[in-house]
Amino acid sequence: MEIALQATGLTKEFKGFVAVNNVDLSIEKGTIHALIGPNGAGKTTCFNLLTKFLQPTRGTIKYEGRDITRMKPAEIARLGMVRSFQISAIFPDLTVLQNVRVALQRGRGESYDFWRSDKILSRFDDRARAFIDEVGLTEFTDERAAALPYGRKRALEIATTLALSPDMLLLDEPMAGMGREDVERISKLIQKIAENRTVLMVEHNLSVVADLSDRITVLARGEILAEGTYDEISKAPEVIEAYIGA
Ligand code: ADP
Repeated sequence: MEIALQATGLTKEFKGFVAVNNVDLSIEKGTIHALIGPNGAGKTTCFNLLTKFLQPTRGTIKYEGRDITRMKPAEIARLGMVRSFQISAIFPDLTVLQNVRVALQRGRGESYDFWRSDKILSRFDDRARAFIDEVGLTEFTDERAAALPYGRKRALEIATTLALSPDMLLLDEPMAGMGREDVERISKLIQKIAENRTVLMVEHNLSVVADLSDRITVLARGEILAEGTYDEISKAPEVIEAYIGA
């Protein structure tokens, strides 16, 4: 078994309050791994530590065997581990195609230049269209991002993330605010993405977690309560108690 991401003794204190306490986590390469737990469990903090949006108080994080504990998110992205929405802004006035072009250009370390003509950027078109097809936005290629329905916007965000050529994607509540149809569509997309990549997601929707995840880590009060397949963790009495007691 090959490990993509490994945290050891991961701890985060906020002014003496321990939000994440001595967490050991191994994400196997090529799997979909979910991080779940009741409100206040430390999921967001953990996710921010792993993606280096927060600096841990103690502990180490390795990606593909390299110590990334002191690295910045952009450096980690260059190693192939990318957080969705890392390109925080989808440019609302640009089309789907133009947005993915920009992401491809940024992925090459070039900063986006609004004054460049479409002609120069169009050298990215073949690859951009492939990502647009991959996330199911072909029919929206020339739509302005602002005009897309919510679920399609999230798909566009995933396309701009894929444009950075990640081997591992970290998704923060990919289903938040979505209706049933969008949930089904994005679920299929995550499965497709994971065919040749590793995925770690924080997700509240337990039926999505059950459907998609190879492995699940349950956090409660900053600590790991259980880990395993959905069948395993959903039978664990301490998990049931944490969810009911929350
Ligand atoms: P979850 O995502 O599982 O709901 P969080 O990681 O957001 O949990 O929060 C875990 C605990 O850490 C909560 O009690 C929260 O109030 C606390 N916490 C999170 N961020 C901060 C912060 N910046 N300063 C102080 N306390 C924080």
